[in-house]
Amino acid sequence: MQDEVLIVGGGVAGCAVSIALARKGRRVTLIEREPTPRHKVCGEFLSGEALEDLHALGIDVAALGAVPIDYVRLAAARRAAEAPLPFHAASLTRKALDTALIAEAIAAGVSVERGRGVQSLSRTTTNLWQATLDDGTSYEAPTAFLATGKHDLRGHGRPKDPHQWVAFKMYYRLSPAQTADLKDASELTLYSGGYGGIQPVEDGIANFCSVVKQRYFARAGLRWESLIAKMQQDCPHLAMRLDGAEPLLDKPIAITHIPYGYIRRTTEDGLYCVGDQAAVIPSFTGDGISIALHTARRAAAAYLAAEPAPVFQTKLRSAMLPQMRLAEFAANGLNNSLARAVLPFCLRVWPGAMRVTARLTRVTQPAAVAPQAFAN
Ligand SMILES: Cc1cc2nc3c(=O)[nH]c(=O)nc-3n(C[C@H](O)[C@H](O)[C@H](O)COP(=O)(O)OP(=O)(O)OC[C@H]3O[C@@H](n4cnc5c(N)ncnc54)[C@H](O)[C@@H]3O)c2cc1C
Repeated sequence: MQDEVLIVGGGVAGCAVSIALARKGRRVTLIEREPTPRHKVCGEFLSGEALEDLHALGIDVAALGAVPIDYVRLAAARRAAEAPLPFHAASLTRKALDTALIAEAIAAGVSVERGRGVQSLSRTTTNLWQATLDDGTSYEAPTAFLATGKHDLRGHGRPKDPHQWVAFKMYYRLSPAQTADLKDASELTLYSGGYGGIQPVEDGIANFCSVVKQRYFARAGLRWESLIAKMQQDCPHLAMRLDGAEPLLDKPIAITHIPYGYIRRTTEDGLYCVGDQAAVIPSFTGDGISIALHTARRAAAAYLAAEPAPVFQTKLRSAMLPQMRLAEFAANGLNNSLARAVLPFCLRVWPGAMRVTARLTRVTQPAAVAPQAFAN
């Protein structure tokens, strides 16, 4: 089967590109391996830039039940400090967000193939991109967008994660007192082997998403129950939050090998890489979704302007590099034992610093292409 544009992966970035191009009259096929959206490991924080882009795509997050997030709180050991966020933010489960994005893509006229995994993506002798699916069928197009998120396709892999991060997500129903106390805050908790974020999402529940080094997990016997106990021991503030909480999933969902700090250097003709396939920012910034939307918007604009994919990818890298490095530096700081040791004393000055960090790590601020590029 042949189309004008082929998009591999129907998460945030893939859906956003497909909507932008279908609205400009392009014939687009999007291939997504999951039959229906499901839980993904994600803190589910939507930054101000993400909200703007989602609005331009026609996604009304408030109507989907998104919870406004007005504060960010940092907790290390027994101390916590909070600062108002310098932008509007919200939180929404990925299941709800991905469902809305796929529906919007279909409404825009994208031909969506769900429940169909792509095994390989390669160039034909006639210069088309050919996606070969699990069932052996294939789709071809002169242009393809790679949007498989954390999953690498053979031949298009990213370097291995040297720090061996492991990430987990669990939903909890917090006790009424803790629900009221957490309220409209996104709370970052620090441990000796990583960090975690807890925040309310729709339906009165809380998302707890954590990222730890493999050796920290190993010290907990590679068991979730021991790991969550260890994190609470490291950070009594988390223990307080989870006191009396009811876990809502049988077990947490987990992923490994997250190449934080990765930015794709280049690509091949006709293949635009977006979302986590373009860049992976440390999770604590809560900016991955915003980057997925931003890279999608820029890639769609580049394609429509006939900018070759390798030129687009190189320009994107240069634009994102300084802020990505800053975010990485900040993440390393949080995971540095000396920094953590003095952090409780820094908490009094932390709110101001956090506001600055939040502003500086906005990789999407100097938008070369405005959110209107998604609009009809
Ligand atoms: C621990 C953690 C916490 C995070 N917290 C936040 C946060 O709070 N806020 C935030 O903004 N960002 C956060 N992020 C980052 C954010 O989740 C990602 O950056 C974002 O989802 C990237 O979007 P994407 O479209 O590239 O990938 P995804 O949204 O993951 O979509 C990729 C899609 O491709 C599909 N796919 C994969 N392989 C194939 C294949 N072979 N064939 C067909 N389809 C395929 C998948 O099923 C998936 O639907 C977090 C990340 C982690 C690891």
